[in-house]
Amino acid sequence: MLHSKYESQKNNYGEHWECPYGNHTMASGYDTSNINGRAVEPSDDIWNGLYACLECGRIIDQDSLEVVSRTSDFSLLRL
Ligand SMILES: [Zn+2]
Repeated sequence: MLHSKYESQKNNYGEHWECPYGNHTMASGYDTSNINGRAVEPSDDIWNGLYACLECGRIIDQDSLEVVSRTSDFSLLRL
């Protein structure tokens, strides 16, 4: 399950990702995160290009679109 890839396409809103669980960019969306599912600012030095799905906790690498981890503690995703 961790090795599934995200489909990505460009639209008028920019990058569009759709989660297997139905979340997508225009729904709950995604937030910048570290590998442990803790929210980080995109400007932080520790951020290395990961986004967390705010519905299922999958953590996605924005370059490869691979699911690299998954969190179940959504409280950490709220800054
Ligand atoms: Zn999801």
